[in-house]
This record gives sequence, structure tokens and C-alpha cells, in this order.
Amino acid sequence: MEIERARRDYEELRGKGLKLDLTRGKPSSTQLDLSAELLRLPGDAHTAADGSDTRNYGGLQGLAELRALFSGVLQVPTGQLIVGGNSSLAMMHDSIVYCLLGVPVGGERRWADEERVAFLCPVPGYDRHFALCERFGIELIPVPMTPDGPDMDEVERLVAADAAIKGIWCVPKYSNPDGVSYSAQTVARLAAMPAAAPDFRIFWDNAYAVHHLTDQPAEIADVLTLAAEAGHPDRVFVYGSTSKVTLAGSGVSFFGSSPANVAWFLGFLGKGTIGADKVNQLRHVIFLRDEDGLRAHMRRHAELIRPKFEAVDRILSKELGGTGLASWSSPAGGYFISLEVPDGCAKEVVRRAAEAGIALTPAGATHPYGNDPADRTIRIAPTYPDLEELEVAISGLATCVRLVGAEKLG
Ligand code: PMP
Repeated sequence: MEIERARRDYEELRGKGLKLDLTRGKPSSTQLDLSAELLRLPGDAHTAADGSDTRNYGGLQGLAELRALFSGVLQVPTGQLIVGGNSSLAMMHDSIVYCLLGVPVGGERRWADEERVAFLCPVPGYDRHFALCERFGIELIPVPMTPDGPDMDEVERLVAADAAIKGIWCVPKYSNPDGVSYSAQTVARLAAMPAAAPDFRIFWDNAYAVHHLTDQPAEIADVLTLAAEAGHPDRVFVYGSTSKVTLAGSGVSFFGSSPANVAWFLGFLGKGTIGADKVNQLRHVIFLRDEDGLRAHMRRHAELIRPKFEAVDRILSKELGGTGLASWSSPAGGYFISLEVPDGCAKEVVRRAAEAGIALTPAGATHPYGNDPADRTIRIAPTYPDLEELEVAISGLATCVRLVGAEKLG
């Protein structure tokens, strides 16, 4: 009997006393080692391209040479990029605070003075986007993802009808967690759709802009230009960072937008700091050099993590293929695999895995308010453990899916 075999396998799994962590999309220490040289930089160098001394105050917008290096991959003109600290999430947070406490460009009042503020959240999506909105009382409205990006019929309908909808979260390339890259048509529709709110914003979190796993990099359309051409120049806030390029804890982040939004953002930023950490910016420029240097560096990451993504796919196929108990994404980039189990099973699979010493992102985290109504989606983050640990963890996870599937579905 399948259920007996599943129970036996599960007891055996528990007996192993595992302690494995697949919760967060962190680079492994071997990946961090790829940027070891960064810790020895900038050495004696301290002069920026414009002749300024990076050790001193100033340079609020960030080094122009670093902005130029990332301008192409983020699809934002150099003059319209701002370099932030080590976290793009912090720049998203600050953008929301600035919108709440200061009137956004084109807006009529501060978001804090609106009766209701809501964001569309394509699901499955990134839990920290949702948590950030929740913290400030912004209502979260889920919209389904499709293989081309968010369901645009639904997005257009909601955004045109409800002036309380001020934003949408988008991870346009190798989305967290399902690996989807938005089609050109989706991007064009997002850029051009009518919005009831005059200060509607697309939060374009291009966290995985250069994080390819294959030799055919995904290309996405240039949302900033398309929005400007459609008469919505101030609609898009673009974000990116080197958290998964260089050092997750000591990288640099970016905000990009229209000239008016960049001036608006700098107006707030400049009240809280006299200037950015330009020494870190300079060492990033020396280390990455140019776009070719960046791409070569990302190929080295891909060589380290591709085998991990392949192992997940191979083990899930072997242990769950043809059982009807699971389907999963095979992303061409990014940091995550999304595993779909039968309705009503995700929480129980995660609980059983935890009992066997395999920590997974909580079921539901991929949805607003931590509530996946179908209780079906599990996010797998394969990059951090080493390959052997990962193989044990995924095989254990498959055992948990078989057990829960057999118990719940008979
Ligand atoms: N956005 C997305 C979609 C992410 O997956 C992550 C990291 N998991 C972040 C942002 C965090 O970026 P940062 O380190 O630049 O704050």
C-alpha cells in the first residue's frame, strides 16, 4: 500500500535527525567567495571618475560610473538612477514612506491622508513586499500570475475602477517564487493601462535582472520608456541590487524612475543623509568593471547554482513525477522554485518537513496576509545548502508530499 510505504519512508526520514534549511533565498558561502576580492578593495584608490574623494561627504545620487554600469541591465538612464545602501528593500520601504508622508508626483494628497490605500499583489509573490505594505496598513489585493506575468485583464479592470489602488508589486524577471518573466505584451499593458489613481505606481522590483541560469537570458520590455510613451512618465519605480551579485549583506542597491520622481526621491533622501557610502560604490565599480565583467561574474554564480536547480528538478521528477501529487517550476533564472501540491496540503507538508528537520518557507508566505486560500504553494530556495544537503532535503520533502498526499487524498 502506498500509504504504508509513505509512512515507513517518513519514519525513516525522521530517524535521520536532519537539520536542513531551505527557507530563504540566500547565496551560499561559495557564491560569496566569488566576490572575495571586494573585501580587499578599493585598496588605496579613493577618487571617483568626476575627481571627487569617495571618502568624504557628498554624492547623494551615487557614483555616476556605478550608475552607468547598471543602467543597461536595469533599463534606466544613468541620470535617472540613484544608488542606495545595501538593500533595495530599504529603498522600496522608503518609497512607500515618502508616498505616505509626502505627496507623490502627480498625486493630490499624501497617501497617509487617503481613506484607503491598496496594492495589487500578483500571487504567488514575495512575502517581504506584502509584509511591508501590511506594516503601514496598505490593503493587499491578490491577482493571479500567469506564465506571461500578472493576469492583465484582472489588473486593468481593478486599476481602472478603484482610485484607492495606488500600486502593484512586480518582479518582472525570474519572479519570486515561480520564475516567470513578464511577456512584452504584459509590460506594455502595465505601462499603458488607464488608472483611476493619478499617482498609481508600479513597484518594478527587478531583483533578478542578471541572474540567469541558462545561456538564453530572458529579456523584458523597457517599462520606463513604454510608460513615458503612453503618457505615464511617473508611473514606474524601478529597483535592483547587487545582493545576489556580490555580497548579500554589503552590496549596493538602485532606485530608478522619471526625472521628476528622481528629484522627488532625492528631496527626501537628502534630508536623512549628506551622502551615500561611495567607498563601497567605488569598490563595486573596480570589481565588476563593466557590463561584460558583470555578466562574466554572473556566469560564475550560474555555474555554482545551476546544478542545485537541476538536482531539485531531477529528484522531484523521480520521486513525484506521474503521481499527480505535485507540479513545480523549472525557472531559467532567479533564486526560487515554486512547488504546487494538491489543494489543502501545503501547510501539512511544511509541518511534516519541519518535524523531520527540514525547514521550509511557511506555507502561505507567497500570498498576502500569509493566506494561500488553496493551501497549495510551497517555495523552495535551493541556493544556500550545499548540493548533498539539498539532495537529502528535496528527497525528504518529496517523502512528505507522498505522505500527506496519501493521508489526505487516500
Ligand atoms: N526583491 C526580491 C524579489 C527578492 O527576492 C529579494 C531577496 N530575496 C529582495 C528584493 C531583497 O533585496 P535586497 O537584498 O536588495 O534588499
